[in-house]
Amino acid sequence: MFSWRSILQKHDFEQKIDVAFDVPMKALTTFKIGGAADAVVTVHDPSAFDELLRILAIDNTPFYFIGGGSNLLVSDEGLRGAVVRLSSKTAGVTRLDEMTLQADGGLPLPKLSREAQQLGLAGLAFACGIPGTVGGGVYMNAGAYGGEIKDVLKEATVFWPDQGVKTMSADELALSYRHSSLMKTGGIVLSATFILKPGDSDAIGAEMTDLLQRRRDKQPLEFPSAGSFFKRPEGYFAGKLIDDCGLRGYRVGDAQVSEKHAGFVINRGEATCEQVKQLEQDVRTRVYETFGVTMQPEVRLLGDHWLP
Ligand SMILES: Cc1cc2nc3c(=O)[nH]c(=O)nc-3n(C[C@H](O)[C@H](O)[C@H](O)COP(=O)(O)OP(=O)(O)OC[C@H]3O[C@@H](n4cnc5c(N)ncnc54)[C@H](O)[C@@H]3O)c2cc1C
Repeated sequence: MFSWRSILQKHDFEQKIDVAFDVPMKALTTFKIGGAADAVVTVHDPSAFDELLRILAIDNTPFYFIGGGSNLLVSDEGLRGAVVRLSSKTAGVTRLDEMTLQADGGLPLPKLSREAQQLGLAGLAFACGIPGTVGGGVYMNAGAYGGEIKDVLKEATVFWPDQGVKTMSADELALSYRHSSLMKTGGIVLSATFILKPGDSDAIGAEMTDLLQRRRDKQPLEFPSAGSFFKRPEGYFAGKLIDDCGLRGYRVGDAQVSEKHAGFVINRGEATCEQVKQLEQDVRTRVYETFGVTMQPEVRLLGDHWLP
């Protein structure tokens, strides 16, 4: 009997996908944490999805969809089954009309932001330093410095394993703070369409330079992390709550609340998922005991059990 693994290895996908086996997830996440995934499939052409999912269904093989891996914490035991992601190499931007850009799901957000700036289109400068993809940005409703995907998204093309490809309007995606309806319904964002405003390319460029500098000044970019670790509890700032509990610099093994920005958890070298989870629990408990505020992680846990 053939397993999904051997079929995947031998099947001719006409170069629409690349497959690698036993890949450490450390290499695919900005946190640099996580054991090996049985397989990582990089999809260059989404028309391969049907065939790919048919093969994975053979042994009921689980699959995990990821983007740039910049908001993920992966289990130390790794992931059984396949990690699937859209290629960034083949991803691009199309100008649909004067104010409308369509970007492929695997395109890094900073590239989209730069492209819009060069075309003199305003509205995406906020995304210039967010190290995720367009698909991950839609899924998370990524945002920074007063802007968010919700402000500029018109619609997204989404693939569902059982329903095929559909266009979803921004309303249907129900974007709110670090949330979209995709967290409940599933679905893979293949592309997204943005409506922008006329702007001055130089002025937008200067704004982006300023935002990137503010990140370098405030964020611990010299260490691996997954960005802000906790969501902002309503009426508070996560980093300030953590700081006010005296937890700036708090450490479990190599996982540490950043001394530079208490809203970030950093990997000082060999942090494990278990250490990050312990730190998360300690921070949550202390903040609750001190302020009565419940903190929720913004970071998504793969291969263990925090829920969407
Ligand atoms: C240094 C640093 C700074 C950051 N700053 C910010 C910031 O300012 N603002 C902010 O919002 N975030 C920030 N982040 C977090 C992160 O970049 C965002 O959450 C980003 O949107 C995640 O995109 P991704 O492609 O990396 O998704 P991943 O981390 O790979 O995945 C996150 C979730 O999105 C889903 N997903 C990914 N791609 C798709 C797709 N094509 N279709 C459907 N679902 C998909 C995955 O299944 C997963 O559940 C930062 C992270 C780092 C490391």
